[in-house]
Amino acid sequence: MILSISIMFNNLNDTTSILYTKNLEIQKEYIENKMSQTQLSILTNNSQLIGSVEEISNLCSNTATNIIKNFFRKCPLSGYNSRKCSMCNKTDCTILEKAHSSYSDRPTILKNAIQTLWTDDNVGINAGNIFREFILLHKNTPMFLLCPSCHRKYDKIKVDKNYKNKNKKKKSNQCSRNKYKPTIQYRMSTRNTKNIKWSLRKYST
Ligand SMILES: [Zn+2]
Repeated sequence: MILSISIMFNNLNDTTSILYTKNLEIQKEYIENKMSQTQLSILTNNSQLIGSVEEISNLCSNTATNIIKNFFRKCPLSGYNSRKCSMCNKTDCTILEKAHSSYSDRPTILKNAIQTLWTDDNVGINAGNIFREFILLHKNTPMFLLCPSCHRKYDKIKVDKNYKNKNKKKKSNQCSRNKYKPTIQYRMSTRNTKNIKWSLRKYST
């Protein structure tokens, strides 16, 4: 049964599948058009975030989730108009959720965005720049519209471990391990944290 479910989700993990390439193309175009028009205030938030990649990532996690909901709300991925789940093909879904590819989930994309801008844990990073980078990185990995049931199943599927390990190896070669060394002090500015939460509640597309 587990094997057959894995096979069912192959289209979502196969970078050459029609569904994968189509959604990636749609997403790229959407981001390019939307980025210049969006008025999401969080993208121009000038709060400076200081800490390790891990710490900043934890702080930004909820905001990133909301950005997916808000920025990509009108992104016409497969199933957008028909309310069709891209996995089970049910066409009367009342709820469709955006699922990231197993190879590049939201926390990973967020960490990559932070890492791109991160110098060390003494140098602040502009919060707005992190979230802009986070959105732009979605030009490299598609999302899929799935019904809640398929989304849960998809999240449980273990992706090819060799693929993930290869990626991890590449990452550790690319950057110093010190970047992820936990810091003893937690030095996020509470003022900035409040600003971000406040912005989140206020922003709209
Ligand atoms: Zn489904």
